[in-house]
Formats: sequence, C-alpha cells, structure tokens
Amino acid sequence: MPSSDRGTVHIIGAGMAGLAAAVRLAGSGRRVAIHEASLQPGGRCRSYYDHAAGMVIDNGTHILMSGNQAALSFAQTIGSMGGLQVPAEAEFPFVDVSSNERWTLRFNDGRLPWWVFDKERRVPQTTVIDYLLLARLAWAGDDRPIGNVMNCSGPIYDRLLHPLLLAALNIDPREGSSKLAAALIRQTLALGGKACRPMLSREGVGSVFVDPAIDYLKRHGASVALQDELVSLELVGDRVTTLQFSDRTEQVGEDDRVILAVPPYIATKMVPGLSAPSSFRGIVNAHFRVDPPAEMPPMLGVVGGTCEWIFSLPGRMAVTISAADRFFKLDREELARLIWAEVAAVSGMPATLPPWQIVRERRATFAATPEQNALRPKAETAWQNLVLAGDWTATGLPATLEGAIRSGYRAAELVGDRLRAAA
Ligand SMILES: Cc1cc2nc3c(=O)[nH]c(=O)nc-3n(C[C@H](O)[C@H](O)[C@H](O)COP(=O)(O)OP(=O)(O)OC[C@H]3O[C@@H](n4cnc5c(N)ncnc54)[C@H](O)[C@@H]3O)c2cc1C
Repeated sequence: MPSSDRGTVHIIGAGMAGLAAAVRLAGSGRRVAIHEASLQPGGRCRSYYDHAAGMVIDNGTHILMSGNQAALSFAQTIGSMGGLQVPAEAEFPFVDVSSNERWTLRFNDGRLPWWVFDKERRVPQTTVIDYLLLARLAWAGDDRPIGNVMNCSGPIYDRLLHPLLLAALNIDPREGSSKLAAALIRQTLALGGKACRPMLSREGVGSVFVDPAIDYLKRHGASVALQDELVSLELVGDRVTTLQFSDRTEQVGEDDRVILAVPPYIATKMVPGLSAPSSFRGIVNAHFRVDPPAEMPPMLGVVGGTCEWIFSLPGRMAVTISAADRFFKLDREELARLIWAEVAAVSGMPATLPPWQIVRERRATFAATPEQNALRPKAETAWQNLVLAGDWTATGLPATLEGAIRSGYRAAELVGDRLRAAA
C-alpha cells in the first residue's frame, strides 16, 4: 500500500506514458489515481477481441528494439519480459515483390559494424561506401527534412533506409526529421546488433504492456478509473485547482499533482498557450486468422509492394503499412483483399481470404517533420502542480513506445521533485 500521505498524483490518460508514470510513482509508494476516458487502458497500444477476425488482435503490431531501454525496464518492472519474443540474432529478412528477390540483413553484435563489409549480411546491390550515409544522417546538424540531408534513391535507400525510417518515423522519410532519424540511428544501429533485435509481443501488446501494468498498479494500491473523462482543468495563478470530469468535479489539494498524459489535440484544449504537434499520420494494420507457414519468419520486410511488414505469429498473420493515409478511403474489404493477395504470393498461402480485420489509426503518430518536431513541449508547464507526458512531448525520439515510456518516467521524476520541494 502507498506509504506517502503527501497527496495524490492524478494521471489523466492510461496510454503507455500515463501507465509508465503511474508504475514509477506507485512503485515508489506514491498515491496514484489514473483517469482514462475510454473503456480500456493502453491508448494507441492495445489488444482486444475482434469478432470479425474471431481472435484477439492489436490495434497495431508493435515492434520494440532490444536497445529500447526504458520500454524494456518497464516490462521488467511489471514482470512481462517473458511475453516478448526475442530473436537470437539481429536479423531482418526482406523480399522485393517486384523481383521476388530475398535477402536477410544481419547486424553483428559489437559496435564495430563489420556486417557492412560482408556481402552475405548487407543489402544486395550495395557497397560499403553506401553505408556512410548512415553516419552522415546520424550526425547531421540542424533539423532538416531527410531529403535535404541525403540522396533518397538507390538500393541502400530503397532497401534499407526507406523501410526502416518509414517504420520508425511513420512518414515518407524524405519529409521526415533528420534529428529524429539521427536519434534513432544513434540508439539502435550505431550500438550494434545487441541493440537491434526486433522484439514482438507473442500474445499481443496488451499482454506485455497493458494488463501486467494494471495488475502491478492495483497491487501497489493505485486506482484505475475507466470511462473517466477529464473535460477541463481549472487553472488559478500557478496551480491547477480543479479537475472537471464528465460526471463530477474534483478539487486538487495542496499536495496533489496532475500528470496530463493525453494526446496533443486534447491537451491543447485544456492548457492555454500550449505548443504541440498538430499534424498526424495514419497507420493501417491488417489481421488474418490463419496458421502461417513454418518457413515464414516472425517479421518479413516487404519492398516494392503494398505491405511493408508481414508478421507471422501463432495462429495469425498481420501486416503493417505506415504513413498509410492514402488507404483510408478505400473500401475495407477491397483493402483486405489487396493486402492478402500480396501476403499469399509472398508466403505461398492459398489466395482465399481468411477471416480478417482492418484497423486504421488516423492519428497514429504526430507527423515527424522538422516543423512538427519543433512544436513539441517540455514536460514542465507554467503551473507548478501540472506536468505533461506523451510520445508527442519533447523526448527527442519519434512517437514510439520508448518515447512514450520515457516521457512517463520523466513526468514521474518531475512530480517526485516537486513533491520533495514542497515537503
Ligand atoms: C497502429 C500503431 C502502430 C504502432 N507501432 C509502433 C511500433 O511498432 N513501435 C513503437 O515503438 N511504437 C509504435 N506505435 C506508437 C505507440 O503506440 C505510441 O507512441 C504510444 O502508444 C503512445 O502512448 P501515449 O501514452 O503517449 O499516448 P496514447 O496512447 O494516445 O494515450 C493517451 C491516453 O489518454 C486517453 N485520453 C484522451 N483524452 C482523455 C481525457 N479527456 N480524459 C482521460 N483520458 C483521456 C486516451 O484514451 C489514451 O488512452 C504505434 C502506434 C500505432 C497507433
């Protein structure tokens, strides 16, 4: 049970940022109350039973990299590491659907990237010199569109940088922020294969990041209220004084703190003068209830087609398409057929469409351009008992689980500091 009698930390939003803040604070004995507007926690990282597909699906298959230290420490704290599928090697199999050429990118574990010298490990049709582009991008100065920093064409771009940056930034890489790309490269590729193993949630993201977090919070005395929507904050002087929920008003006590961990388009309505990203990109995920062929790798990169990544997990296959706004108006069944035709061709599965579901997340991430990146606010606000959290705050990373969890930890630290300062 919480040992602190120094007031409650109200956390608004039970996405990964809110949950990470809550886990940190409840784990150190703070009294925590989470208020989540929707029916289930997890926000943009959630699993649920889908009747059309007849199975539990994720809103989006989430890839974690073994270098994502905050996300892994979060999973460790809540005891869910066992739900992550960790490959023995940092390998990325690819297929080019226009030529049916297949290759596997294999990073070596150490920091010295000797894989680029090995034709069997690097991308076909590339030379060692091509990989200098990575170094140029990792140490680019000002934040500029990636298209202004490097040549976005040729095999190294089409077969390596485009798929990796598109997946990580969720934007056409030419428009993407060079600073965010650099942060990503420095925290994964530059650290060697040890930091580049792609990790998937075997039974879905809910079973790794959400359900065990809620269990942990309950064990540590935190309250988690669902369908508990905050409508507005009353701000008086340098403090939040009142939380206005859809069904009641709560006073914020002298020792209470508030962490606002909602999306930017909600936070800007509640916090006057808040600078925040205002443009977004969508992601499409297709889910198929089918046993994948044994020879399909857990994760296959697709070049030159509609699919970008094909995931093969027990009893199901899933496809992710990033920056997918062009598919948002297409009929859902037409889209499912288009995607399945490609999956069937690549995997040798029958062309008959299995039970399926299409999930389209319109505002999957903020648009990772230099302009939008510059709008991200710090966690601290002008109100001394109010702190922000979310993947859209100034984490220095793209909108990812790692960024969201780091922002939650940062908010928890700030609240801790402010609690100590007030004591
Ligand atoms: C389809 C998809 C695929 C992705 N793939 C990956 C991936 O492979 N790897 C990766 O690292 N990241 C991936 N991401 C990004 C990752 O999911 C996000 O960065 C992360 O989940 C964001 O968490 P958050 O807490 O910042 O925000 P959110 O998840 O948006 O959480 C905000 C929460 O606030 C709640 N809320 C909103 N308004 C109110 C209110 N008024 N009162 C109370 N509660 C409120 C919301 O319901 C929500 O639960 C993906 C995202 C999507 C959508």
